[in-house]
Amino acid sequence: MESTGRFNADLRALRSRSYDRCQSCEEQLPRDVAAYAGYALDGSARYVGACCLPEIYELATHVYWWWEADKRVEPETALWRYMDLAKFLLLLEEKTLFFSRADKFDDPFEGASGLATREKEWDDFYLAHFRDVVRTPPPGGTPVPDEAVEHNAQRLLASIRQIAARDRRTTFVSCWHANSGESEALWRLYCPPGSSGVAIKTTANRLLHALDPPAQIEIGRVQYVDFRRSFAGFHDRIFWKRKSLAHESEVRAVCRGNLSDDWAGLPVSVDLSALLEQVVPSPFAPAWFPNLLASLVGRFGLKVPIEDSELLAQPFF
Ligand SMILES: [Zn+2]
Repeated sequence: MESTGRFNADLRALRSRSYDRCQSCEEQLPRDVAAYAGYALDGSARYVGACCLPEIYELATHVYWWWEADKRVEPETALWRYMDLAKFLLLLEEKTLFFSRADKFDDPFEGASGLATREKEWDDFYLAHFRDVVRTPPPGGTPVPDEAVEHNAQRLLASIRQIAARDRRTTFVSCWHANSGESEALWRLYCPPGSSGVAIKTTANRLLHALDPPAQIEIGRVQYVDFRRSFAGFHDRIFWKRKSLAHESEVRAVCRGNLSDDWAGLPVSVDLSALLEQVVPSPFAPAWFPNLLASLVGRFGLKVPIEDSELLAQPFF
């Protein structure tokens, strides 16, 4: 079956939470057998194994899930972004989320395959596979001489290294903090005392549905790994980070494919009333700020609850 590559928001959501389970019969999917993402005859989204393949009427793509990080995010997972007032105004005015280019982040490991000290190990692993592939002729083909095997294996390695480097320049990311409540550390980082800022709260499901549907966007939880022991997955390096950043508890929306590496970032249209579950004014802002914020949000025609920060709650003794 030809794959069409067509993803609607439902299919993206389904794929991001199904991973190694057939969504139709709940079977655990065997490793090394592709899953199928697509649509049933009535147009509803399906993520199934070979067990339930007949349910697929239109195939969007095969999913080689075991090559990927476990990126599942529960649809109701609360996601936060902390920002200063200028950034929030820009969001209201432009109705776009700005996706940053992966190589523009501070973290030098964005999109990395692993530690430089283990580069040779990674190269040797792929070279061994490529030698096998090149050495094995198709049925009826003639065996390839040794020097040609080595030359071609090295050429394949060089090309996947180039892809990894290019991916960093053509992958765009919007970062979110997954947390059931607020984070004082992030308030202090993004809206320090003396400034006025906000935290916007959404959910994974709202984010998926608020983003412009035709955009090819994947939402997933970042994996925090010890690169002394692991390499990043080849296809989804952008979801792997160093363990030392685990406190970020990040869920990211990622946009890639046929994107220009001339762009510093990618503005993606967003439906604000679908996105915003609540807006929280900074607990460090002046007392008049919440009222200003409420009238500002109202002026943009949005009906979003403005909630007091948890940090303002009073103790009793
Ligand atoms: Zn099944």
